[in-house]
Amino acid sequence: MSSFSELGLSPAILDAIHQQGYSEPTPIQQQAIPEVLAGRDILASAQTGTGKTAAFMLPALERLRHYGNTTTSPAMHPVRMLVLTPTRELADQIDANTQAYIQNLPLRHAVILGGVSMDVQKETLRRGNEIVIATVGRLLDHVEQKTIQLNKVEILVLDEADRMLDMGFIDDVRKIIQMLPEHRQILLFSATFAPEIRRLASDFMQEPKIIEIAKNRASSNVEQHMIAVDKSKKRILLERMITDLNISQVIVFCKTKVSVDQVTRHLKGRELSVASLHGDKSQTVRQETLNAFKQGDIRILVATDVAARGLDISELPYVINYELPSQAEDYIHRIGRTGRAGATGVAISLVDEDDKKIFDTITELIKKPLPLEQISGFEARWLNPNTADRGKMTPSFKTTSSDHELARQCERIPGRKKFSRMRQREVCALLLPNFGVK
Ligand code: AMP
Repeated sequence: MSSFSELGLSPAILDAIHQQGYSEPTPIQQQAIPEVLAGRDILASAQTGTGKTAAFMLPALERLRHYGNTTTSPAMHPVRMLVLTPTRELADQIDANTQAYIQNLPLRHAVILGGVSMDVQKETLRRGNEIVIATVGRLLDHVEQKTIQLNKVEILVLDEADRMLDMGFIDDVRKIIQMLPEHRQILLFSATFAPEIRRLASDFMQEPKIIEIAKNRASSNVEQHMIAVDKSKKRILLERMITDLNISQVIVFCKTKVSVDQVTRHLKGRELSVASLHGDKSQTVRQETLNAFKQGDIRILVATDVAARGLDISELPYVINYELPSQAEDYIHRIGRTGRAGATGVAISLVDEDDKKIFDTITELIKKPLPLEQISGFEARWLNPNTADRGKMTPSFKTTSSDHELARQCERIPGRKKFSRMRQREVCALLLPNFGVK
């Protein structure tokens, strides 16, 4: 495996990488960095959490490095690189990474998102920034008001292009590309390559280098559990899992804003530290909530898929899908919030009778058969109409050691005392490998 220094990055950038604690490039970085440095267009599919932000930002900084200057004149800082993202959270995340990678270079960067004041952004843009990271709609607002000029852009990144397509931004993206100079480099990242994305690539890109990293596979660092449960028991099972397993931090994903509010209310009623995140909240509130969660001030974040992409929370141990998403792709993005950058994580999905179809689609997509597991006392009536009520189900948990050994190990996990011995064994058999108890 090559090291960062062999990839052709200069000392100022290598030093910033070193400060981030990255010891070696990830596979997407190894493949993309030399291509981007050579000025080629790339069409990349890389799984979430693989380090793809650095894969485009590090070589882009290397290419733009010679423009660095410390003069205050806005004319000396035209936009040279534009990064477009489907969501505000992803834009913010990329901006934060850019801040880390750019620290030794006299280049400027700015993030332009919807939902916050245009005036403050106008002032930021007026001062000049070589790198602008933006959501599509808000960028077009600035273009219309002539508060941003795109005629000096050399590098365009389209991140999560599939999501932009799903959200109906693809025509706006085309419009933006047409505003750029003819000679520009395009780096397109997408989980899937739907016909519209292929068309976009063939219309605007020059013989792009295709890079494929583990297509459509969920991160292998994430242990996945699918728990069959009846809808009526979900709330109580969720609460039990969080408290009895002493889960330090978790994102709980729901399909709708209404579910988010209901689950949040329930957990608040149990005096748990919980906050919620969905598209109806103002951008300021969304940002404050995320920051508080990242700092560890909030234990449980209940969210819709607005939190499924772009969020990078180091050491988030758990993701729970209270409801499976409507799109199988979103499952991969959701569980990608845990198990990031080499850490291990656990994703637990509560599967009810309405989820049967999407459950099948998800297992097909991740190309991995996930057995439907059950927890004693919470057996799914929809799965076992005859036996579930009588409590005679044998839980299908993977057991890593004998029951006796498991029970002994359970004693060593904090927060376990409230469990009955029976429940303790079963839930531990399900989740024990992730507590680091050997
Ligand atoms: P991304 O896929 O860009 O969202 O990155 C996921 C996480 O991986 C972020 O927390 C990065 O800081 C981290 N990361 C990126 N590159 C590396 C690397 N070479 N070694 C270790 N961590 C990395």
